[in-house]
Amino acid sequence: MKSFAYHQPGGIPEAAKLLSSVAESKLVAGGMTLIPTLKQRLAQPEALIDLSSLADLRGISDDGATITIGAMTPHAQVAASELVRGKIPALAALASMIGDPAVRNRGTIGGSVANNDPAADYPAGTLGLGATIVTNAREIAADAFFLGLFETALEAGEIITGIRFPVPLKAGYAKFKAPASRYALVGVFVAQLPAGVRVAVTGAGAGVFRVPPMEAALSNNFDASAIAAIKIDADGLTSDIHAEADYRAHLVTVMAKRAVGAALG
Ligand SMILES: Cc1cc2nc3c(=O)[nH]c(=O)nc-3n(C[C@H](O)[C@H](O)[C@H](O)COP(=O)(O)OP(=O)(O)OC[C@H]3O[C@@H](n4cnc5c(N)ncnc54)[C@H](O)[C@@H]3O)c2cc1C
Repeated sequence: MKSFAYHQPGGIPEAAKLLSSVAESKLVAGGMTLIPTLKQRLAQPEALIDLSSLADLRGISDDGATITIGAMTPHAQVAASELVRGKIPALAALASMIGDPAVRNRGTIGGSVANNDPAADYPAGTLGLGATIVTNAREIAADAFFLGLFETALEAGEIITGIRFPVPLKAGYAKFKAPASRYALVGVFVAQLPAGVRVAVTGAGAGVFRVPPMEAALSNNFDASAIAAIKIDADGLTSDIHAEADYRAHLVTVMAKRAVGAALG
């Protein structure tokens, strides 16, 4: 691993100043993705800016029609939160399915969303619920945030401070895990919101995406039978050592039906 400077800022403004003024610097949250990346020399930053001592970035608040989860909140805390379990149980269930206990205790929601791994779970929950990503500079709708493989709308110097989730009428998440990593081979988040139904898929392609035909069908009839005949085109989906694109396409419908079943309890 190449040597680097280490900064532990005392507040978000100081972290933002360091990020924009120190060349080749990178934020570190739980280090679950970043540290292995450094070890493999896939990234060689000059400086790391550690967010772990910033208490403002941790915790979950109830804002009435929405709940906001601080960027540094670990997955285990979201999974165990009475607030999340009460208001958006599907999101707590999603957090409980991430990796293993070590990953859930170190990995953070902000790091997961910023990283935008194509097989990560939170991008599906964030896009599926139509959440808002709050940064030190602005608010970004989930529909405009996830741009593709490990790519987001975050600009240089921008720090995610939290994610604001609307409380849905109903929601469910179903994931078919890759057995070793537990990342999603395919994961589908379905949410019934006052404005209609949203369906977001992770693991199947180069990034999380919505499925408008399923959204339309479920908006008319929120039942798994409404989407049973909807087939996903395998063109553009991922083929790798874990699964071929046509198998992933098949899994999208299967997982979407299970997610609706989970939403209906
Ligand atoms: C063995 C293993 C299994 C896993 N299984 C799963 C799984 O099943 N499902 C799943 O979804 N994920 C899985 N993960 C990923 C894990 O859940 C973490 O969320 C993810 O690795 C990000 O980790 P982190 O929060 O520690 O962020 P870090 O690794 O510290 O950072 C990741 C990236 O995000 C940037 N970043 C971090 N915080 C912010 C912020 N607040 N604002 C802007 N940029 C930021 C960093 O600069 C870096 O580029 C797994 C990871 C491992 C190691």
